[in-house]
Amino acid sequence: MQSLSFSDLGLAESLIKVVAREGYSEPTEVQARAIPVLLSGANLLGTAQTGTGKTAAFTLPLLHVILADRSGNEPAGGGGAGRNAGRSNSKKPYRRAAPARPVALILAPTRELAIQIDRSVAVYGAGTGVSHLAVFGGAPKGRQLEGLRRQPDVLVATPGRLQDFIGEGAIDLSGVAYFILDEADRMLDMGFIPEVRKIAKMAVARKQTALFSATMPTEVEHLAAELLGPEAQRVAIAPKAMTADGIKQSVLHMTREDKITLLPEIIRERGMFRVLVFTRTKHRAARVAKVLSKAGIPSDEIHGNRTQNQRQRALESFRRGKIQVLVGTDVAARGIDVDDITHVINYEIPNEPETYVHRIGRTARAGNEGVALSFCDRDELNDFRRIESMLRSEVEIDRSHPFHVEPAVPGRGSGGGRGNSGRRGHAGRGNAGHGNAGRGGRSGPGGNRSYGPGGNGGNRSKSGGRRDERRSASSRRAR
Ligand code: AMP
Repeated sequence: MQSLSFSDLGLAESLIKVVAREGYSEPTEVQARAIPVLLSGANLLGTAQTGTGKTAAFTLPLLHVILADRSGNEPAGGGGAGRNAGRSNSKKPYRRAAPARPVALILAPTRELAIQIDRSVAVYGAGTGVSHLAVFGGAPKGRQLEGLRRQPDVLVATPGRLQDFIGEGAIDLSGVAYFILDEADRMLDMGFIPEVRKIAKMAVARKQTALFSATMPTEVEHLAAELLGPEAQRVAIAPKAMTADGIKQSVLHMTREDKITLLPEIIRERGMFRVLVFTRTKHRAARVAKVLSKAGIPSDEIHGNRTQNQRQRALESFRRGKIQVLVGTDVAARGIDVDDITHVINYEIPNEPETYVHRIGRTARAGNEGVALSFCDRDELNDFRRIESMLRSEVEIDRSHPFHVEPAVPGRGSGGGRGNSGRRGHAGRGNAGHGNAGRGGRSGPGGNRSYGPGGNGGNRSKSGGRRDERRSASSRRAR
């Protein structure tokens, strides 16, 4: 499989040229396995994350079959049959008022992902004459309506806006022969599954369906069984394939309060160039971006409280290098496909191990090197350990920063009975005091502060002692 080339997969010559132009020397694993399945006409259930090359894995065969249908090898299925003749000629006046009747529908949970997929269709389909459009919520309808009047072949859509347009008579799905559902697990998270079912029912002429999901919760399994039928083929790409190569991961243990001080310092001191910072909440994302900007580090934020325009602008500035740091929440930033992200920083540890994989997969795209740093406070230790057990390896601890706090060693703690039963052993033995142990005596790299047993991080935050520590840390660095 390793030495497989794109031409071995049976793709049209024009598409092979496109991937060569993109600089792809060989198919990624998901491409090598999914493309032949999709070219065979079978339905596909793919377990693969963004970052594995899955967009091309479904877009290339989709373009191939559309081109094949066009050249008369095989007309598009069912209700769509026969309507394709001359459909790329959008200038016929009688078509203007007619609803758009795409031959392929790609459903994506978020506008960012929809835009990204549409961009991929544009890149991979350049010169093929296959037209495409993305429709998504949070943006004015006018331009999208104009695009629909041009009768795109491939429609990329988020469920809500798609249903709006269907309701208004601007889109008719009865000609959809190819239906792709991307990031089904995120559709589930966002409550879109009922809409997805309705939409799939409208695509009465469906002859091929593919469903991709990073994880396979039971509800997604059910949906897949319903949409794909028993004959569907499965392609599962293990998450570790994403994290194994090219990403240098490390964890930085510190208190929650120190995170905001360390972040700008570490970005500056380590000369981080294009950084994606993840927080758990929109509010925190906004705050972190503000602090960074104030510290003179060009930054912007991307999360659900921002308008579509603001999000797009932030993403574009990041892509073009006008800002150095983009701070975002998972829903908004998880699927971001920006090349050359040098660092991903988990400002907060996600509570789902899979989310960690998604996040760090934003760096080291397509073979580049990348660095993923995780800021972990004591309340996040458990979540981080679950990540490590999913990765089946321990992430290296980075002690070379001034706020290092030695994490408790699992299973060796004496913390039991101090309300920390859920946490594995906050040992802290040998550290007098509760959490403030080591104050003034912090030893920098390799230093040996510990969280201490039962010392509740939340109780020790704003003491003068903490400020002193910070000062002494910076003065130590200055020396
Ligand atoms: P995706 O998983 O679809 O988000 O793709 C991740 C990134 O990998 C995108 O930036 C693609 O341009 C890139 N990519 C896709 N396929 C290949 C390939 N065969 N070789 C190198 N890069 C690729």
